[in-house]
Parts: sequence; structure tokens; C-alpha cells
Amino acid sequence: MKSYLNRFINTLAILLIIISFSIAFALFYIHLQTSFETKIRTQTEKLAQAMNDGYQLEQNKNFLFSERITHIAHDGEVLFDSRYTDLENHLERTEIQEAMQYNVGSAHRLSSTLETELFYYAIKLNDQTILRLSDDIDSIWAFSFEFIAVIVLLVILVMLFTFIIVKKLIQRFVDPINNIELEQPLSNQAYPELKPLLLKLDAHNQMRKEFSANVSHELKTPLQSIMGYSELILNDMADPEDLKGFNHKIYQEAQRLRNMIEDIISLAKLDEKQIVTEFAPINYKELVEQVLVKLTPQIKKNEIAIQTDLRPVSGEGIHTIIEETFNNLLSNAIKYHGLHPKIWLTLSENQTSVFFIIRDNGIGIAPEDIPRIFERFFRAEKSHNKAIEGSGLGLAIVKHSINLHNGTIEVSSEINRGTTFKVTLPKRRS
Ligand code: ADP
Repeated sequence: MKSYLNRFINTLAILLIIISFSIAFALFYIHLQTSFETKIRTQTEKLAQAMNDGYQLEQNKNFLFSERITHIAHDGEVLFDSRYTDLENHLERTEIQEAMQYNVGSAHRLSSTLETELFYYAIKLNDQTILRLSDDIDSIWAFSFEFIAVIVLLVILVMLFTFIIVKKLIQRFVDPINNIELEQPLSNQAYPELKPLLLKLDAHNQMRKEFSANVSHELKTPLQSIMGYSELILNDMADPEDLKGFNHKIYQEAQRLRNMIEDIISLAKLDEKQIVTEFAPINYKELVEQVLVKLTPQIKKNEIAIQTDLRPVSGEGIHTIIEETFNNLLSNAIKYHGLHPKIWLTLSENQTSVFFIIRDNGIGIAPEDIPRIFERFFRAEKSHNKAIEGSGLGLAIVKHSINLHNGTIEVSSEINRGTTFKVTLPKRRS
């Protein structure tokens, strides 16, 4: 992770440094060019003013100006040039044409003799002659390039500095993550942004510990029962007429143990998402009917009236898991029944989803318990009597299974009135 972050931030920093220095250099160059041109313009204006006042160029050849000065007659003939003699007619030069027409003119041009760019500025004097000053623009390039060495050195220094800072910063961010004390996350000394992660880890640990404690407790209870009864039998302390009852108890408790272990294994598998690849077409109507057939003995035993409205709905999913989900919901509706028990099953669809609704008129769930029923090992107070068997794992499995299919489950319930679960599953894997 460190090297990825290092590379990413360093590349970004290099880019930013290069871009900002380039922009700074460009601005610097533009500034130099503007002041260069302004200087020539001002010099020309000053000299033009002096000449209009009677100053004679030709008689004062020791100029203070470094620029080339040219004085041109209104027909283009060069009257005077501070650098060259015997010059051709200048009438066609852009800046001269402009000055003739508009009193001032300027131009950028490559000098015909030297391969350098020149800037020319011309002003028409009162006597209709033209005064022109010019200078070599390349001199500012040369001036700027003197700075380039300094700039490159600066860039290298800033980059080196950035590399060191980035390395240190990443170390400060990453080291606390790599050194997290997983068992006691809250004991870690870390920067505040890590707090949410540490809190999550802590909550996860708590859940894991609670889960282990619950598992041990829930497994221990039927085991103790089995051991108690078998000890009585082993020590010949059971009356012959009690034997059958004891055996039945042992069998029941063993069954409870097996169911619970199966539930725990289901949850572990779902946790590891081992089964994700087994998506296949499902005929939901058939699936619900199969679940009903399997649970017929319990339905009969509890004299439950079942009313179904099952549309022929099909979709994609993991058959065994959906079957177990519907089985868990229907088993609960049967288990937690009330007087004159009745269960309504509805299966329907729209273009994208399958809807399975299971409603019962059973004992219901207290409002304060509803948010917790999908927790592992949670059993609502009212159902917590021995008469109704259960581990509190069924709905945890249901929730997990539905999540695996990217579906949702909603519950509404009223104590002594009944409970409704609505399952929505996407038809295609999403
Ligand atoms: P259990 O093994 O206890 O049935 P579940 O996880 O399946 O565990 O359900 C959790 C709790 O939710 C149950 O103990 C019960 O209190 C409540 N519950 C679930 N379904 C129903 C229902 N149809 N009617 C009333 N209570 C229900």
C-alpha cells in the first residue's frame, strides 16, 4: 500500500510542481515582454517630443539610448540610423505605414540580417517625418533562460523536499493502520480519522465474542440435558416406565443440537460467501409448494389453515438458500401461532422483482423487539418460553441469504395480532 500511495502522490506532486513552475515562467516571460515593449514606446515618445521641440538627431550622436534609432523621411528615405548606413527605402515597413496613417505604429519582425526577432515602434513627428526605435526581443529570452537554471534547481529541490515529506506523511498514516491491535482496537493511539475504523473493529470484536459465548451457551444447554438423562439411565436411576420418556428427551435434545449446528454452519457458509456462484433459474411457485409439503406435518399438528395466492413466478437465485429462507419464515409463522391459527402466502412479481409475502395471525412481536429479530441468537421475550423451540439463528440466516441475493426483507407485527414478512428478490443477479 505504501509504495502505491507513494507513487501516486509523488507523481501528482511532480505534475503539480512542473505545471506551476511552467505557468510562473510563462507569466514571468509575458511580464518581461510587456515591460520591454513599454520601455521602447516610452523612449520613442520622449525622443519624439524632444525632436518636435527642435532636437536634431543627426547632430547629437552620443545617445543615452541603447535601442536602435532610425529617422525616416515621409517618402521612406532613411535620413538617419544609429547603427547602419546606406539603408534602403523604408516606406513599405509595416510600422512606418501604420505611423503614416495613424501617427503611431508597431511591428514584430525577424531582422533580415540577424536571425533574431525585433520590436519596432514608430511615431510621426510634426514635420511629417517618422521616428522609429527598435530592439532585439530575443534579449529577453536570453535573460529568461538565465533564470531557467535557477528554476530547474528550485524544481529539483522542491521535488526532493516533497518526496521526503510524502514518505514521512504516508508513514504517519499507514503505520498506525498496520500496527492496529486487533483484539483491543480502542487501546490504539491513532489519529482521529482512524477512530471510525477502530470503533467498527471493536463492534465486530464484541459481536464475535458475543456470538462465541452464545454458541457455547446454546450448545451446552441441550448437551447438559442429554448428559443428565443418560447419566440417570447409566446409573440405573431411571424407573423402567420413565425410560421411554428419557430416551425421547435425549432424542429431542440431540435433534435441537443438530439443528443448531446446521444453522451455525449455514451462517458460517453465508459469511464466507462460499455459495455465490451457484445462481440458477428458480421456479418460485414450485419452490413454495415444496416448502409447504415439507412442513405439512407441523401444519397439520397445529391445525393451521393455509391460504395461498401463488402466481407462476420465476427468476434466478440459489435454490437451496431461497428454499431455506422460505422454510424458516414459514416455520416461524407456524411456531409462533395463536388461537385459530391462519397463514396467508402470496407470491407475485413485477418486471424486475419477485415478491413473497407471508402473514400469520400469531403471537406477534413487541415493537421494541422488531429491530433486533435479525440478530444472531435473538429471541423475543414472549417466545422465550420453553414451549417454543428455537435458537434465534433462523432470521439471521434469512437476512443473510436475502442480502446475498441483493434482496430486502420488511417486517410488520402487532402483539397478539400477527406478523407479516415481505421478501423482495431481484429476478436477475445484480
Ligand atoms: P427462533 O429460532 O427463535 O425462531 P428466529 O431467528 O427465527 O429464531 O426468530 C427470532 C425471533 O423473532 C423469534 O425468537 C421470535 O421471537 C421472533 N419471531 C420470528 N418470526 C415470528 C413470527 N412469525 N411471529 C412471532 N414472532 C416471530
